[in-house]
Amino acid sequence: MTETREKFYARCEEIHDLQEIQQLLEWDQQVIMPRKGAEQRANQQAALAALAHRRLTDPAFGELVRAVETGVAGDEVLAADLREARRAHDRAVKIPEALVAERAKACALAQVAWEEAKAQDDFASFEPHVAKVLDLTRRVAEAVGTENRYDALLDEYEPGMTEAELKVLFSDLRDRLVRLMDKILGAPRKPSQDVLKRHYPEAGQEAFGIRVARDMGYDFDAGRLDRSVHPFTSGTFGDVRITTRYDERYLNTALFGTLHEAGHALYEQGLDPARYRHPAGAYASLGVHESQSRFWENLLGRSGPFWRHYLPVLQGHFPGVLDDVTVDAFCAAVNVCQPSFIRVEADEVTYNLHIILRFELESALVSGALGTKDLPAAWNEKMKAFLGITPPSNQVGVLQDIHWSAGLFGYFPTYALGNLYAAQFMEVLRRDLPDLDERLSEGELLPVRSWLAENVHRQGRTYLPQDLCRRITGRPLSADASMAYLGTKFAEVYGF
Ligand code: ZN
Repeated sequence: MTETREKFYARCEEIHDLQEIQQLLEWDQQVIMPRKGAEQRANQQAALAALAHRRLTDPAFGELVRAVETGVAGDEVLAADLREARRAHDRAVKIPEALVAERAKACALAQVAWEEAKAQDDFASFEPHVAKVLDLTRRVAEAVGTENRYDALLDEYEPGMTEAELKVLFSDLRDRLVRLMDKILGAPRKPSQDVLKRHYPEAGQEAFGIRVARDMGYDFDAGRLDRSVHPFTSGTFGDVRITTRYDERYLNTALFGTLHEAGHALYEQGLDPARYRHPAGAYASLGVHESQSRFWENLLGRSGPFWRHYLPVLQGHFPGVLDDVTVDAFCAAVNVCQPSFIRVEADEVTYNLHIILRFELESALVSGALGTKDLPAAWNEKMKAFLGITPPSNQVGVLQDIHWSAGLFGYFPTYALGNLYAAQFMEVLRRDLPDLDERLSEGELLPVRSWLAENVHRQGRTYLPQDLCRRITGRPLSADASMAYLGTKFAEVYGF
């Protein structure tokens, strides 16, 4: 390796380390930090963020990227590292530091205001905050300088994706999901969730979660499982931590929450160790990340073959509680489809409708077609149009998610993209592993993990997500695989 390349990678590694420390502080804050440490933590975070930003925007780093770019021909991995380093450097350079600081402060205040507004069901007190965050976020997008403001925001989470592509993809998906939902609601069979609402002591839920995570191949020597108010995954490679939460009266919360986070964690643990700390050695995009969590949570974790093996295991953790339940009844219970107000509790069919609603609204907010004062009415109108229900309050409507107060415009679409990627990957996995269902029925999850590691995890960010999708599945991302999967599954559960 030439001296310039070595210098380039040394810089990248330093920036990576600073970002990883920020994540660790964030984990600590959400999991074990004493309440009175909040102010100190905010100072530490600000200091590290400023340091990382300075290293990333350093003109000398830009020079290094340029110098290495001259000798890149034929080296796919190096080219990807340079592409990602340039993307991060250019973006950081274009956004004025004063704007970054002003926006960070506005978001911090808006999040506090959001919590209060949500608790009081008082949108009016939150509106000036979200207006301010939106304004500053639009200025960030303008500073980035792409033709379309929403594209500039989206690019941070789903590189290469555009608002125009999403509009086509999501309007198709929306219409097909609404049709499927109507079919389900009109079906003769009405499975119930009652069995999930019996009494399930926390200890049994935790033991079961650990058992499944281990079977999936989650390495507890390279991670740990804790509790937090909002479950999340933090870290990469040899230190990938997951959190979950428990509800003794509702099995789904921890059950699918843990599977979801363990799916994210397998991705991070499965990245190519030879490319640790390199710009393109990281996950491909948030959409691809979400595909990994939804793959385990839904495509496997809500399937019959999976429960043929795991229902007896689950019954063993709760003696006497589940003895009367058959695999078919349990499977139907975890697949009940019902329009509801809260996104995070939505089933597989209605979930993407919640996301498309947010996408359409934030796209209109960013373009200026919709003002923040009109958000609650616009929200309720779309809920009625997509899901046929009207939220009784803003608390279970427009105020339910933290994202907009945190300045995360352009983030929501990645949740739906994750579902679409997952279904499209699954079609290929089924071709490659024709006896998948038999293996799942035997509790053999490792062949799935190996397939994902080889096809998705180890590729890191070498390819843009759309290209990765084409390489794995042979075609661009569409709603077809997801709709085929949902159509077959729900026809079986609901008997139509
Ligand atoms: Zn997730």
